[in-house]
Amino acid sequence: MSDKAFASQADLVEKTVSFDKLSDHAYAYTAEGDPNTGIIIGDDAAMVIDTQATPVMAQDVIRRVREVTDKPIRYVVLSHYHAVRVLGASAYQPEHVIASRDTYDLIVERGEHDMKSEIERFPRLFRAVESVPGLTWPTMVFEKRLTIWLGKLQVELLQLGRGHTKGDTVAWLPQEKIMFSGDLVEFGATPYTGDAYLGDWPATLDAIAALAPDKLVPGRGASLQDPAAVKAGLDGTRSFVTAMYEHVKRGAQAGKDLRTVYRETYEALKPRFGDWVIFDHCLPFDVTRAFDEATHYPHPRIWTAQRDREMWESLEG
Ligand SMILES: [Zn+2]
Repeated sequence: MSDKAFASQADLVEKTVSFDKLSDHAYAYTAEGDPNTGIIIGDDAAMVIDTQATPVMAQDVIRRVREVTDKPIRYVVLSHYHAVRVLGASAYQPEHVIASRDTYDLIVERGEHDMKSEIERFPRLFRAVESVPGLTWPTMVFEKRLTIWLGKLQVELLQLGRGHTKGDTVAWLPQEKIMFSGDLVEFGATPYTGDAYLGDWPATLDAIAALAPDKLVPGRGASLQDPAAVKAGLDGTRSFVTAMYEHVKRGAQAGKDLRTVYRETYEALKPRFGDWVIFDHCLPFDVTRAFDEATHYPHPRIWTAQRDREMWESLEG
């Protein structure tokens, strides 16, 4: 038997939600390291970036949006394909669900497996899972860049490079220099890298920094409300991603097996990053992907509920 409960199965304490106003057009729904939702309010419509895990959980987002606007929520943007961010989409009854082509391709290829795997990893985050009608399918797919005008408000959906997944999309308000980054940036929360391109991720963070956001809503953790806080979020994410990958690469190149590399990487990273939420949940997945990328798998292998358990047993058992 494992010493540690699988993934986030022992994480049952509810978090406190914050609904932060970043500008007249931008709000952040955050919850102490649980997955965030971004809200953009234009002249004629509102847009939601990432939906929460279930329609029932999304109702709490809608309730708060309705306290600040009665404009229709016409657009849902998927920052990437992960179930915990996208399966609440139906609650908003959007006209359009927008994703990058790479995200669409991942939903086709592995959306079903990912849904089953994530529901087992995060029981607390899939409250009322029976309200999920199935996979969330984009109605509009773009490559690299899509500009949407919500009246006079310009919204840029940008694929700046691979990182957390191959489909990562950020939402950018150039007039206000506000960014919604999805899981490319985390703050006080451990980056999940089980589906990542670790070699590419730092350059994608460079591309985010080059836009010089004044404010940034990360995928998990508090909204970053000034340039110094944005820099702290970017720096923290970069140091975790690079330290973890360097450690694993060194171990793999020395011919060590995955379990040994995992134990050594865990001990090395725990003092620096162990207080970030979901550290113990993420690290086995993160090191497994890093070991794959450092050896034989340029592209992330599909996680199934069964592969999750076998990996956990072999590293934590
Ligand atoms: Zn994710």
